[in-house]
Amino acid sequence: MRRQRTIAEKVSCTGVGLHSGAPVQLTLLPARTGTGIVAVRNDGDRPVEIPCHSQAVQSTSFATTLGHDGATVFTVEHLLAACFGLGIDNVRVVVDGPELPVMDGSAASFVYLLRSAGFFEQRDPRSVLRIRRPVEVRDGERWIRVEPARRFRVSYAIDFDHPAVGRQTFEVDGLDPDHFERELAGARTFAFLRDVQGLWDAGLAKGGNLENTIVLDDDKPLNPEGLRWPDEFVRHKVLDLYGDLALLGLPIEGHIHVERGGHTLHQKLVSAILRDREAWYIHGAERSVESSFELRRLLVPA
Ligand code: ZN
Repeated sequence: MRRQRTIAEKVSCTGVGLHSGAPVQLTLLPARTGTGIVAVRNDGDRPVEIPCHSQAVQSTSFATTLGHDGATVFTVEHLLAACFGLGIDNVRVVVDGPELPVMDGSAASFVYLLRSAGFFEQRDPRSVLRIRRPVEVRDGERWIRVEPARRFRVSYAIDFDHPAVGRQTFEVDGLDPDHFERELAGARTFAFLRDVQGLWDAGLAKGGNLENTIVLDDDKPLNPEGLRWPDEFVRHKVLDLYGDLALLGLPIEGHIHVERGGHTLHQKLVSAILRDREAWYIHGAERSVESSFELRRLLVPA
């Protein structure tokens, strides 16, 4: 039996928000079993808790924005990906501003931070959302589908008409923290130079630079250090998928196929799964499924 996992002690870091460009302090704290991942804004009159759950998603354009009780927090996806990839179930994420720090544009710094805190195995067992029939979302040439499987699997494809990207595919077989840390956590956000001006005009990406984003001109990356992997782009998409799947509130057992995905499509799948109550069941809960806190956390509106 796999037990729930939190971190062993409090850890902090500082950085700037990718979109706001503003400095932010991030503190991670251990949390009780059944808490899930909860973001806490502590820069107002009183702390406001925002559950990191699909029902709290307010926007998925460029970054994932979560909101609850009048407070919002955005660019949560890479920290959530680190939690999902390392199998951390319960943690409090305290920020003193509206956006998480971008760090180097990947999840590597968050993995380092979580590893520095150490892991703590908790008393209660960890339940899993196990898929029993396929769920699919299509949007023209883009689609995403989950099929039943006895473990977590991903088959991801992207297809960009760009000489440095083109068609790239990536496979994941099993949720393995070491594989995540080695092959996915370090893959950085990317953007096309032709889009960057539009982002700035929209008030986004103010903190974006070559230290935290791969920027591509019409031929190649502009970053002097080059790429960390030739297929860093699809690896980053898989990383983003991990962060979006964390918003299910439970680890998932199923095979996820993605063609030309992104946050919006990932979130549509998460919502479609949660809406289709016949498509999955919760495996491993000690108590009856209907009374389990996991189910309440999944189905009760935030
Ligand atoms: Zn990302």
